[in-house]
Amino acid sequence: MINQLQVHQFACLSDNYGYLIHDPVHKVTAAIDTPDADAYFAELDKMGWRLTHIFNTHHHADHAGGNLALKEMTGCEITGAANDAHRIPGIDVRVADGDFFMFGDHRIDVLETPGHTTGHIVFYASEQNMAFVGDTLFAMGCGRLFEGSAEMMWNSLSKLLNWPDETQIYCAHEYTMANAKFALSVDANNADLQNRMQDVIKLRNDNIPTVPTNMGIERRTNPFLRALDADFAEGLGLAGQPAVEVFAEARRRKDNF
Ligand code: ZN
Ligand code: FE
Repeated sequence: MINQLQVHQFACLSDNYGYLIHDPVHKVTAAIDTPDADAYFAELDKMGWRLTHIFNTHHHADHAGGNLALKEMTGCEITGAANDAHRIPGIDVRVADGDFFMFGDHRIDVLETPGHTTGHIVFYASEQNMAFVGDTLFAMGCGRLFEGSAEMMWNSLSKLLNWPDETQIYCAHEYTMANAKFALSVDANNADLQNRMQDVIKLRNDNIPTVPTNMGIERRTNPFLRALDADFAEGLGLAGQPAVEVFAEARRRKDNF
């Protein structure tokens, strides 16, 4: 029997998703980011899990704001980006691009994905086909460029494009409906995208999460991952231009959408 990593997902704040991951054999539990400490306490209680770790993707308050309260109550260990350690409250373990560590039986790889913030990282459990991507990649979207450049973000997203289609993408926000509307505005003839919009409308009407998503459908429908596609570039009036320019233009349009 494979020791499966369990994921417990819950909505918190206005549009964040909280995640707890749990290895039932080793009885370790990690919070992926800490948008809201009280919500995490309640969910830990409900699951009967004891918090042992926090893995932070970046410093924003809706990701690291609950760190200190959770650490104070549980004594958990906090892992975050080495190059952003000064902005990660309570950080114990500093990690950088290419690092990996074991969480129970599970190998977790760290990738640096600057763009949304300069110190953003993602956590990738390749054997479980799971990735926790914070505010780097969303369903049909990507994070706003608050601190990094378009070039940085395109390089970051290009790393994620190496992941197999089956990779489950656990992103930090339910932004899917707004993202889908934008995506259709720049990629109207994409049949996969049109179909996906119908699915998203149904799910959101029933208040069902559209997250996790997966790399296969993102590759086909996420405008920020389609910068290498000739038809997509042509649709933006950038036929033959480098992917980074196509990405940058898509991001600019989204900012003004
Ligand atoms: Zn953020
Ligand atoms: Fe966020």
